[in-house]
Amino acid sequence: MKITVIGAGPGGYETAIYAAERGAEVVLVEKGELGGTCLNRGCIPTKAYLASYDVLKACEEADDYGIILPEGEIKTDYTAILERKNKVMGSLIKGIQYLEDQAGVTIVKGTASLKDKNAVLVKTENGEEEIKTDYIILATGSVPVKPGMFKINGKNVITSDEVLDLDKAPASMILVGGGVIGCEIGQFLHAMGTEMTIVEALPRLVATMDEDVSKQIARQFKKEKIKVICDDGIAEVNPDGDLVKVTLASGKELEAEKVLVAVGRAPYTEGLGLDTVGVEMTERRFVAVDDHMKTSVDNIYAIGDIVPSAQLAHIASKEGQVAVDNILGKDRAMSYKAVPGCVFTNPELASCGTLEKDLIAAGKELDKDYKIGTFDFKGLGKAQASGHITGFVKIIADMNGVIIGGEIVGARASDMLQVITTAVECGLTVEQVRNSIFPHPTMCEAIGLALSNL
Ligand SMILES: Cc1cc2nc3c(=O)[nH]c(=O)nc-3n(C[C@H](O)[C@H](O)[C@H](O)COP(=O)(O)OP(=O)(O)OC[C@H]3O[C@@H](n4cnc5c(N)ncnc54)[C@H](O)[C@@H]3O)c2cc1C
Repeated sequence: MKITVIGAGPGGYETAIYAAERGAEVVLVEKGELGGTCLNRGCIPTKAYLASYDVLKACEEADDYGIILPEGEIKTDYTAILERKNKVMGSLIKGIQYLEDQAGVTIVKGTASLKDKNAVLVKTENGEEEIKTDYIILATGSVPVKPGMFKINGKNVITSDEVLDLDKAPASMILVGGGVIGCEIGQFLHAMGTEMTIVEALPRLVATMDEDVSKQIARQFKKEKIKVICDDGIAEVNPDGDLVKVTLASGKELEAEKVLVAVGRAPYTEGLGLDTVGVEMTERRFVAVDDHMKTSVDNIYAIGDIVPSAQLAHIASKEGQVAVDNILGKDRAMSYKAVPGCVFTNPELASCGTLEKDLIAAGKELDKDYKIGTFDFKGLGKAQASGHITGFVKIIADMNGVIIGGEIVGARASDMLQVITTAVECGLTVEQVRNSIFPHPTMCEAIGLALSNL
C-alpha cells in the first residue's frame, strides 16, 4: 500500500510517520521547509519568543521572590532573541528529518500537483518527477488572509509571516485582530519595547472563548499598558509615509511604524490541481471532507488547515491519524467533541469542548440545562507558593453530571487543560474525575476543587 502525503506541516509530517509505522510505503512531498507553518511561521517561533517574554517578566519580578538582580535597567537583546528562535526551529527541523528517516518515509523536496487520483507530479530542483500511488493525503495548510483594503506590502503593513522575522522590535505597531495570534505577538512585542495598539472588530479580545476569559487577558493588557480598541473596524490604511496611517470605522485616526494584520488564515490549495481530479470544495474554498477525512474522490484524503475544522496543529495531526486508519481499513470517524484551544499569553488561556457562550447562544440556562464549577487560583497553595495567583478553572457539566467543557486561565493552563480534554472526549462524569487523586501541591488541584463546586 503506497500513500503520498502532500505538505510536511504538523498534519503531513506526523501523518507520514504514523502511516509508515503501520506498514505503508510513504512518500512525503514538501515545497518548503519541513514543519510547515507550525514550525517555521507559527506555533514554535511564537512560543520561543514568548519564552523570552517569560524570562523578562521573571527578572522584573525577581525581587518579589527575594532575588536581587544587579542595579540598573533590565535590557533585552532582540538579535539574540531572534537567533534563539531560529536555533530552536533549526533543531526541530532536523528532528523531523530524523524521525521521518527512522520511520522509513521517503521525502521528496518540490511542489506537488495532482495528475490523476493515482499519480502526483512534483516539480523539483532537477525537473519533474511522477509518483504513482494508491492513496493521496492533502495537507497543504494555510496562508494569512490578505484583504485588499489593508494594503499589505510585506514592509510596513505585514502579516504574521513577516513579523516573526523582523530584526528588531518596531517602535510602534497597530495590530489588527485581537484573536489568538494577535494577542500572543502583541504581548511579546510590547514587552520588547513596541508601543502596541490592538484593534479588534468584535466587542472583546479572544472572542472564541468565554467572556470571563477575555476579561482576564484584557485586564493583564491594561496592566502592561497595551492599548486595546474593541468593537471598531479598519476603514482605511495608508502605508505611503514614514508612519502608516490608519483610520478606524469610528473615525479615530492612528499611526504607527508598522501595521500587523492578523485577521485569519485561508486554506492553501494553489496549483494543486484539485479541479483536474474533481475534488470538491466548500463555499469558502476549503477542501470538503467527510468524517473519515475523505474528499469527494475515493482515494484522496485531506487534513489540517485546508479542511473546514479548527486551524490548529493538533487537529491537523489527529485528522491525519483518522485518514490513515481509514485508508488501512479501520472505520474511524474524526471527533471534534473536545478540541483544545490555547492562547500562550500571560496569563495563558485554554478551553475545550462546549463553552458557556455556546450554551447561552443555544438558549440554554445555567442550573436548568447545565452546571458550572469554578475555582480561583488565589485559593490554591501551589499558586500562592509560586506567585501565580491570577486565573481560575471553570468546568461545565450537563445536568447528568457529564463534563462537557471547561476553561482554564493562568500559569500552565494549556498543560492542565488535558485533564478536561480527556474527560470531555471520554464522556467522564464530574464524580469520576473528582474521585481521581490530584497531586499536592500542584496547579491541577484547582481542577479537583472546581469539580467539588459542581
Ligand atoms: C503565528 C501563528 C501561531 C500559531 N500558533 C499555534 C499554536 O500555538 N498551536 C496550534 O495548535 N496552532 C497554532 N497555529 C496554527 C498552526 O500553525 C496550523 O494550524 C498548522 O500549522 C496547520 O498544519 P497543516 O499541516 O495543516 O499545514 P501547514 O503547517 O501550513 O503546512 C503545510 C505545508 O504544505 C506545504 N505545501 C503547500 N502546498 C504544497 C505543494 N503543492 N507541494 C508541496 N508542499 C506544499 C507548505 O510548504 C507547508 O509546509 C499558529 C499559526 C500561526 C500563523
